Amino acid sequence: MAGKIMPNRLDRVFYQYQEELEAKALEVLRSGWYVLGPEVEGFEREFADYTGSRYCVGLASGLDALWLAFRVLGIGPGDEVIVQANTYIASVMGITINGATPVFAEPDVYFNMDTSRLEGLITERTRAILAVHLYGQAANMGEILRVCQKHHLRLVEDCAQSHGACFKGKMTGTFGDIGCFSFYPSKNLGAFGDAGAIVTDDEELAASMRIYRNYGSEKRYHNKVVGANSRLDELQAGLLRVRLRHLAGLSEERKKLAGRYSRELQNECLLLPRVRPGCDSVWHQYVIRTKRRTELIQYLDRQGIGTIIHYPIPPHLSEAYAYLGHQRGEYPLAEEYADTVLSLPMYNGMTAGEQEAVIEALNAFPA
Ligand SMILES: *Cc1c(COP(=O)(O)O)cnc(C)c1O
Repeated sequence: MAGKIMPNRLDRVFYQYQEELEAKALEVLRSGWYVLGPEVEGFEREFADYTGSRYCVGLASGLDALWLAFRVLGIGPGDEVIVQANTYIASVMGITINGATPVFAEPDVYFNMDTSRLEGLITERTRAILAVHLYGQAANMGEILRVCQKHHLRLVEDCAQSHGACFKGKMTGTFGDIGCFSFYPSKNLGAFGDAGAIVTDDEELAASMRIYRNYGSEKRYHNKVVGANSRLDELQAGLLRVRLRHLAGLSEERKKLAGRYSRELQNECLLLPRVRPGCDSVWHQYVIRTKRRTELIQYLDRQGIGTIIHYPIPPHLSEAYAYLGHQRGEYPLAEEYADTVLSLPMYNGMTAGEQEAVIEALNAFPA
């Protein structure tokens, strides 16, 4: 066997584009300008173009993108925001940092929000829906948009895992008022440190976001609101510009890896992920489900194959949200996913031999 196979390998993309990345890093280091400068402006322009949005505002993280999105939309105490129950907890923190209340929706078979029961969650306090495009696949945006329009709700999208993913040909992040992105190193478009951004077509929201990210000031030392320090730095922005140039190819590579898993995995105790008809996925994760997860993790680990659970504790059962008073059993589907999901090794630069070893091991797992 070809050494240990890790769930993710961040060094592979670096070495693939080493020359370009090192040249850009040196250029920024030598420029003498390190925070909010020409690289950030260049990245904002290029990422807005890439997504087909009018504006992009660079920020320090994906969580900042989320909480600042609700902040600039004026959503806070007394307001409710609907979000899927099986998301990463940062989605929920984006809501609760503002004092707003998350209302959890059960997931559908694609691991996204189940829209068939969406309208039943709306109350007179509902102000927005947070659509999370989990694992790289677009949520059911047709239905989510219809519900938002009918009930006059704001729509925010969590695209931390969906850079470049489309719903019926339109890119995630461009359906709602604000699209929130993370460029944490393990994301499909990853920086070499923390970074994030929002995209929007609304000039006022973009302007407001620029004020909030820099201590609430438009003009230096003239502070309009209590803001944050959520500035994107030049080094990350410059390196992100390099990676963005290659993102389409990197997404294609992930699709090929996922396609091979889906074609070649054959074991009746594994449920393979499904893609929503009319949509594609950028395969941030390749997530299988199995009732025998603990056993499978140990079996793979003995063969040097690492896996990760995204995510073992749904936010409503997390200690951080004990104050919301939810009980086990309230969101049975989300809880079942938390108990059965497993992400297989999947990364740009994964070799055919590495993937073969994972497939062989899984197919040989005694059913
Ligand atoms: C990573 C992630 C975030 C948070 O992004 P950070 O850059 O780590 O703050 C939010 N939502 C989802 C779905 C994520 O995967």
